[in-house]
Amino acid sequence: MSPFDLQGWGEWAQANPMKPLVLAGLLWTALASAALEVKVVLPAQGVDDKLQAFAAKSEALLKEWEPKVAAALGFGAQKGEVHPTTITIIFREMKGVAYWDGKAINVATQWVASHPEDSALVVHELVHVLQAYRKVPGWFTEGVADYIRFQLLEQGKFGIRIDLAKMKPRDSYRVTGWFLAQAEAKHPGLIPALHTAAKTGVDIEQAFTRHCQGRGVDVFWADLAAATPVKK
Ligand SMILES: [Zn+2]
Repeated sequence: MSPFDLQGWGEWAQANPMKPLVLAGLLWTALASAALEVKVVLPAQGVDDKLQAFAAKSEALLKEWEPKVAAALGFGAQKGEVHPTTITIIFREMKGVAYWDGKAINVATQWVASHPEDSALVVHELVHVLQAYRKVPGWFTEGVADYIRFQLLEQGKFGIRIDLAKMKPRDSYRVTGWFLAQAEAKHPGLIPALHTAAKTGVDIEQAFTRHCQGRGVDVFWADLAAATPVKK
């Protein structure tokens, strides 16, 4: 049997105790050589230590998290899904916080100055790099990006108080991110299933309902509300 055939891997590894090590070495070499390059563009003027440190942390986060984000999304399963070899991150004076423009991650230098500890925001933008969705509702796209940032990178610390009576699953960003985390925990494989749906033009909500055994987005939210004791 081939070592690339997952079934029977255990048997094969037992019969060939050294070969998995050799294979792991080869895999490591392949991964290392395919490492993501991050191009950091700093403004011509006004670069202080804070911005330098933020940029360095951003670069490290992008390199570390590209394979993790890909794994969380099931990225690479669709035809034409190829890992980026280079990601450009531009720090510049602008309004807002950060966005992915299809070619580069743009980060506001004013935001960095007032939130120097917030470098995890680049992982949210990195999710958009791999999503590249078209015709998918924005609340879903942003919710997945915040699910990966806050649930996976920041270990479930969403930094908001969820009020199931007042909030809605399509509120986008952290609220949707939190909601998707609950749904993924209950129905593992949901996020990759939704990513596949988004990439193949299948309706997100239909895909959600199918994966969650007939419980749609609103029904699942109502389930969460019913399971949460009312605080007085
Ligand atoms: Zn976003």
